[in-house]
Order: sequence, then structure tokens, then C-alpha cells
Amino acid sequence: MGDLFDRFGRKINYLRLSVTERCNLNCFYCRSGPLPCYDQQKKELQKDDFLQIIRTAAGMGITRVRFTGGEPLLYPQIVALVEETARMKAIKDLSMTTNGILLPKFAYTLAEAGLKRINISIDSLQASRFKRITRGGILDSVLMGIETALDAGFTPVKLNIVLLKNINEGEIIDFVKMTQEQNLHVRFIEYMPIGSELVSWKKYFVPLQKVIEVCKELGKLIPTTGEHGGPARYFRLEDSVGKVGLITPLSRHFCDSCNRLRVTSDGKIKPCLLSATEVDASAVLREKNPLPLLKQKFREAINLKPDPSRVANNAVERAKQLDGYRKMNEIGG
Ligand code: SAM
Repeated sequence: MGDLFDRFGRKINYLRLSVTERCNLNCFYCRSGPLPCYDQQKKELQKDDFLQIIRTAAGMGITRVRFTGGEPLLYPQIVALVEETARMKAIKDLSMTTNGILLPKFAYTLAEAGLKRINISIDSLQASRFKRITRGGILDSVLMGIETALDAGFTPVKLNIVLLKNINEGEIIDFVKMTQEQNLHVRFIEYMPIGSELVSWKKYFVPLQKVIEVCKELGKLIPTTGEHGGPARYFRLEDSVGKVGLITPLSRHFCDSCNRLRVTSDGKIKPCLLSATEVDASAVLREKNPLPLLKQKFREAINLKPDPSRVANNAVERAKQLDGYRKMNEIGG
């Protein structure tokens, strides 16, 4: 099996699968409206369909897989899905993005099943603000999830924080301080206008240069790297154990090193998170011999990955280029 490249010479080796659109939180910037449940569940692919997709991709050059959602721990067959993916020899890196609420129940089982790394989203360390952002979430349940993930041996445990103007931007220092004594990677993410109005994006968007400015108050910032070559730029504070990461899809994009494809819970392959283009893989899953057809769908999706030289490097212009219609919970962040 050879390496997989797109038209612009980017090596594609990373597949992110949103296994469900359902979530047990309702973050105001991520999804719209009340929690939908039953209907969405009907559209989700079955475990064996996801496995067929992963096996096909692994046979073409994919070596890294991440499960996300919605909330991936709500997917009924998540442990078996992790276990069977971990057994695939071609998959060298297996990870998950979760809101952490169900980790006290699942962390040890997932570690045993072969999951290596975990990212936990937490947008505030203040209970009332956390509740407001997530429209009802309980902060302590996520903090307990983080503790269990560390205890279960996931390395590293990364925390994802979407920085939102006039909401949580005052908490930068509190989050960064968490890296001083714990081996956490605290990563700030720029808010993207995914499936939403530019007006609301402008209201909440904070360029992450702000994090650097605020962190300088805490001491010397030492540039460092991540272990898995992702989009985050990292630094750490002198004498701290963990790291701070910045993910800047708008103010300083990283499309020229994009190595990924996404699969939605209803079986659409997305060449780019920030575009509406999709390739439907779900129909071919029902064919007698889906493998060559699925491979064809993956090739189509790779050919549709957008030209990075056309991507604006100015946040407002970049925001205007986004043409998706799905909200983030329907794609998988
Ligand atoms: N439920 C899981 C979780 O909370 O991590 C996985 C899915 S969630 C969609 C994945 C990540 O996407 C979260 O860190 C969330 O904050 C982020 N996200 C959602 N909407 C976003 C947006 N418009 N811009 C930037 N990040 C967003």
C-alpha cells in the first residue's frame, strides 16, 4: 500500500469520523435548536459500515483515525468500534474527541479497547458560564471526565477551548495555569462560522494572538511542537509540565498542510471541513462488493480537496469564503 496524495501534493493519512450527530450538551455555537435525538439516530451508519469505511481507507494509505461527533460516547457501539479499529494493523494512531461527560463510565474500557489519545472540550472553568455556553451542562461532570482520562493513562490528554469574545476570553490565564502542574495540552481554537451567520461570528470571534499577549504576563513562552503534526502551534511556559496550543483556521490557516478527510454519521465523505462539498459513500455500502466503489468515492473526495493557495489569510475574508450548511455537530469537529 502506497501513500495517498491529493492534487496539490498533500499527503492524506488522517480520517475523522463523526459517529453520531446526537449530543448530551447543546453548545450555542455548535448546534442549533433543541436536542434532536431519535431521528438522527436512524440516519447513523452501523458499526460494520464504519468499519468497512475505515478498512477501505486504511488500505489506501490512511494511518490515523479519530472518532468524534456529536458526542461519540453516545454511539451505542463505540467501544466495539474502537476495539475493532485498534486491531487494524495499518492504523497507527487512534484517538477521540469528546465532551468528557461519559468518561467516568467509559475511559478505562476505551483504554483497554485500544484508544490511545483523547481530546476533551471544555469552554469554561466556571460552572455558571459553562452551563450557559452548553445550555445546561454541569462543569463538574467534565472535570471528573478529565481526571478519569488522566488516570486511565491516555497520553496526552488535550483540552479544547473555543475562545469566544465577551464570554470566556477572560479565562485564558486560568486555562493556561492548568498546564503548569499537569501534563495537559490546553488548546485554544478560533471560532469558525460553520453553518451560521457571519453576523454572529463577528460578535464572538477572537483572533488567538490574544492568547499570546495574555500569556506573556505569566512568564517566558517557549515554542515547542505537538507530537502528531496536527494544526496546532504549541508553546509552553517555563517550568510547566504541559503545553498550550493555538488552532487558528481563520487568522492563520494551515490548509497547505491539511492531511485529512472527514466522514459524517450518515456516510458522506467531506474533503474539507469548511466547504459544503460532500461525496456520498452511504449508497455504495449496500452493494454486493462495496470495496472498489468505496475506494472510488475516497478518490473522488481527495480530488475535491480545495486549492490551499486560494484560501484567504485574513480572518474576515476567510470567514466569507466558508460555504458549509451543516452545523459542527453534524460534521464532527
Ligand atoms: N462532543 C464532542 C466534543 O464536545 O468535543 C465532539 C464534537 S464537537 C463538535 C468537537 C469540537 O468542535 C469541540 O471542541 C467544539 O467546541 C468544536 N466546535 C464546535 N463548533 C465550532 C465552531 N463553530 N468553531 C470552532 N470550533 C467549534
